[in-house]
Amino acid sequence: FMQDLERLRDEPAISRDGFEVSLLTNTGLLADVTPGLQHGAEGVGLYRSEIPFMIHDGFPTEQEQYSLYAKVLHAYAPRPVSMRTLDVGGDKQLPYFDISETNPYLGWRGIRFSLDNAQLLITQVRAMLRANAEYGNLKLLVPMVSRIDEIQTFRRHVEKAVSTLEREGVGVGMPPIGMMIEVPSAMLLLPRLAPYVDFVSIGSNDLTQYLLAVDRNNPRVASLFDHLHPAVLVALEQIQKQCESLGLPVSLCGEMASDPAAVLLLLAMGYDCLSLSAFNIPRIKHLIRSVSREELKPLLESTRLCQSEADVRSLIQPLLEAAA
Ligand code: PEP
Ligand code: MG
Repeated sequence: FMQDLERLRDEPAISRDGFEVSLLTNTGLLADVTPGLQHGAEGVGLYRSEIPFMIHDGFPTEQEQYSLYAKVLHAYAPRPVSMRTLDVGGDKQLPYFDISETNPYLGWRGIRFSLDNAQLLITQVRAMLRANAEYGNLKLLVPMVSRIDEIQTFRRHVEKAVSTLEREGVGVGMPPIGMMIEVPSAMLLLPRLAPYVDFVSIGSNDLTQYLLAVDRNNPRVASLFDHLHPAVLVALEQIQKQCESLGLPVSLCGEMASDPAAVLLLLAMGYDCLSLSAFNIPRIKHLIRSVSREELKPLLESTRLCQSEADVRSLIQPLLEAAA
């Protein structure tokens, strides 16, 4: 069966009725780069740049970051690579920079941390831009956006870095800039944020955590953490519709993209770009190729009446078994 899946590597992820989905991969470790290519990823939808920072013994220098980013961009070129700027805080701690807080998920995380440590951000952005000067396939992705001024300020930092590098003789140009939708305020302000971004990517792990007020890593409430909670589904439908009417490309890069039941609903909603761990790509591609989107639409329609995630799952189960 696994060999059959491997044979799908160069086939598109297309439903029986012709709805095509781009499958990209999530990476962070250089060790993940090759599996992504081996499993037919069409690019990197999420490069978690904090991972190399977490396994280092101090903040990596611009040059160290540059050579790392260049390797990733090179491996995937000309396929796109969305590099997310540092997303520390929350559950992601740096061994050499203490961020102890009583409520870390609501604290100094992601873009908040980067904007308050502008020199670190500028160094990272310069390293990414310099690597991109050679390969041209970089997209910048901003984590944990919850306010419009965050993306405006971020954009200004990038513009400044681009012009400084150009003065230094490195022609880099502005890459596409996108933001993660993982905080409810970003979702609710999407039409007002849209003028400042070229694309968006949904972090369904954090979006679920913040919509449901359930810590994504707390075992006591683990049974309450489910991306099929009806409220999460309402949010995802709204985001897809808004992005469509705004003409804003949208992808989804949380664990949800690896959950077959969720993927069926995402297809029905109209999501056509998912980013997931390399090892799950063949399985999800096989699933997409075995269903027709038209038959999933009534399924989505019925989940609109569900009262719980368990109801949602039991509605989907028969279709999932039929597709397997
Ligand atoms: C997410 O929140 O869904 C996401 C993809 O980002 P991370 O898991 O790195 O927080
Ligand atoms: Mg996240």
